[in-house]
Amino acid sequence: MNESTDLSTNQTNIAGDPDDRVRFVLVRTSHPGNIGAAARAIRTMNCRRLDLVAPHRFPDAQATAMAAGADEVLQQALIADTLVPAVADCVLVLGCSARRRGIALEELSPREAAARAFAASGNGPVAFVFGNERTGLENDELMTCHAMVRIPSAEDFPSLNLAQAVQVLAYEWRLATLAANPANELLVRKEPLASTGQLEHFFGHLAETLDAIDFHKGRSPRRIMRRLRRLFLRADLEQREVRILRGIFDDTQRIARRGESSGSSAADD
Ligand code: SAH
Repeated sequence: MNESTDLSTNQTNIAGDPDDRVRFVLVRTSHPGNIGAAARAIRTMNCRRLDLVAPHRFPDAQATAMAAGADEVLQQALIADTLVPAVADCVLVLGCSARRRGIALEELSPREAAARAFAASGNGPVAFVFGNERTGLENDELMTCHAMVRIPSAEDFPSLNLAQAVQVLAYEWRLATLAANPANELLVRKEPLASTGQLEHFFGHLAETLDAIDFHKGRSPRRIMRRLRRLFLRADLEQREVRILRGIFDDTQRIARRGESSGSSAADD
């Protein structure tokens, strides 16, 4: 995953170099013109990486026209079917939403988000994620994110155009990188942070373990998994910590199986 991340990259990245630490991910974009305009928006802020999850139309002449010369960004865009593979190697994923959602995810302003992302970027790539023009991000997609970002727009007219929202975040990222003194702003960890891909495997293992010990007792696992995701995403887990917890899950499952089989053999007797 991010074992090969070169932690020195950030230290040497000066404002003039292309900025590869951050990725902008557009999910299920309907209008190719917005993809092009987003490419232009990030390119003007010295960023290059725009990835697309299940775009409705791409590549497309309207995207190229709206990119206004930021063609390279479009050519290099990676395309994924779902959000998780698009951010699997990221150590921080921030989901942008115009609406407050009832899912109790921490909410950041664009400035806080950029500061948080910049601080984390010493440990691996970071991502800002944007939803479909009409429907935004799905709740499940937001649950993959460490926190939510809301541009403090008018309460009665909150939705920015997609590419304009991208511009706001790219601009804040740019300010954060220009203002930063790498020596004291980057929170480079000694221990590598778990990537989103590793965390998704961890959550799968956790869900399986809760099943194995019959934790839910007929109640819906969905709510408790949301709470637990929020708890663990807030904890900035390191790869080593994930390994320890998964070791505990393995043992728990093994003992649960043993209990089950001795239970059934007792019944057989
Ligand atoms: N009706 C949709 C709006 C989608 S606008 C909704 O309520 O979510 C398309 C995308 O632009 C959003 O998914 C979000 O990623 C971004 N966006 C638009 N306005 C925003 C705002 N005020 N704060 C944060 N992101 C915003």
